[in-house]
Amino acid sequence: IWKECLRVIEQHVNEQSFSTWFKPINPARIDGSVLTIQVPSQFFYEWLEDNYVEVLKLAIKTVLGASGRLEYAVIVDKGNSHNQPYMVSYPQGNVQSKKKEVVPTHHSPFDLPTLDFETMLQSNLSPNYTFGSFIEGDCNRLARSAGFAVANKPGITSFNPLMVYGGVGLGKTHLVQAIGNEIKNSLEDKFVLYVSSEKFVNQFMDAIKEGSVKSFTNFYMQVDVLIIDDIQFFAGKGRTQEMFFHIFNHLHQNKRQIIMTSDCAPKDLMGLEERLISRFKWGLTADLQMPDFETRIAIIKKKMQSEGIMIPNNVVEYLAYTVDTNVRELEGVLISLIAHASLNRVEINLSLAKTIMKNIVKDIETEVSIDFIQKTCSEYYGIKLEDLKAKTRKKEIVLARQVAMYFSKEFTNHSLKSIGYHFGGRDHSTVIHAVQAVNDLMETDNSFRNAVNEQKKQFKIRSY
Ligand code: ADP
Ligand code: MG
Repeated sequence: IWKECLRVIEQHVNEQSFSTWFKPINPARIDGSVLTIQVPSQFFYEWLEDNYVEVLKLAIKTVLGASGRLEYAVIVDKGNSHNQPYMVSYPQGNVQSKKKEVVPTHHSPFDLPTLDFETMLQSNLSPNYTFGSFIEGDCNRLARSAGFAVANKPGITSFNPLMVYGGVGLGKTHLVQAIGNEIKNSLEDKFVLYVSSEKFVNQFMDAIKEGSVKSFTNFYMQVDVLIIDDIQFFAGKGRTQEMFFHIFNHLHQNKRQIIMTSDCAPKDLMGLEERLISRFKWGLTADLQMPDFETRIAIIKKKMQSEGIMIPNNVVEYLAYTVDTNVRELEGVLISLIAHASLNRVEINLSLAKTIMKNIVKDIETEVSIDFIQKTCSEYYGIKLEDLKAKTRKKEIVLARQVAMYFSKEFTNHSLKSIGYHFGGRDHSTVIHAVQAVNDLMETDNSFRNAVNEQKKQFKIRSY
């Protein structure tokens, strides 16, 4: 039965999550429609609950039917000191039953005719998403401070609506929920509601089916602070957009705060009605970018602090350098690292980090090769990789090529001859000349020196 569940789960999570969080689980017993699974640690259990409860629910309901339930058994650590191989020997642990079930979905809140205290408490906010845990950097300064202003005076600032946009995993949900949490803490009488656009659409569809559109609208019109996440999901959904348009107007006229996120700038939102988009621009639109290196370090450190875990500095730097896609991925790598280290009872060091990184990010370069240097330099200087290896003598290409040779000399074990060979069959004296030229220029040109040193960091970190 667990195998069948796994098949369902596999379709809904990525490979990395699947092997980190689901493969180590063993089925313990099945009792009627209650399946108990064994998880290796408390941390593991909490992580599953926090992140995969929906997927687990789906799997259980699919395999066991509507009455299916899931319980966890956490293996108690008996303090075995030696490293145990991943995956084996769990069943020998002391199994402690945890009566924690996956709760069935709540009734949608608008089933309730009037707003009562219960409903108001259900803001759908995760308490972990706060301003305190949201690291500030150049990448998010405007969005964060606008969010903070809104949190202090919801509905009153000119940031209404507040529209936060940015790529996946850059902190949109975190930031808008932080605003919600902040408001709930300081202004307890405000009804704050967080809803994903997907959920909004589904609720609306259900309301149509059940003939309860009126109570749906009424419900949303009573909200003081409406946070609606991933609005791009409304694309092509005309009826939902129309409904939202009315709700939006009502809330805005009554000085209620509207906060939205989207994965792109409002003007690029395809499939959304113009009249909605123009309203989105009434307030403030702020974007989130990928954090720079320093901010990534700060994010990692914050995360370590909240997990109560120490990681050596060189590993922190390594992660911050190599994971430059988005914050979610950065956290994912960090969590895998912590999980592997704690399951295998090994210490977290650079070589473990490299191994994990290789497993997770398939095409990551963990060693400095001439290829890698060439790729990096051609990207950095905005020239074609072929040109770097060709005979061209254009000035900017020559310089980029010399810098690449200089790095190859410094960070690889290739001989001068071999380096020359990799750069379009030049001889070793060309390489010597290149290294000399770069050294000279670094002495006389400050900005060039800074640029080279900046680039150097990412080779250094890989060649530890
Ligand atoms: P998005 O909604 O843009 O896809 P999320 O808000 O879900 O991204 O962020 C992904 C993860 O990265 C979350 O765990 C979030 O806490 C974390 N994160 C993103 N930005 C920051 C930041 N500036 N400081 C701390 N954590 C961040
Ligand atoms: Mg999000």
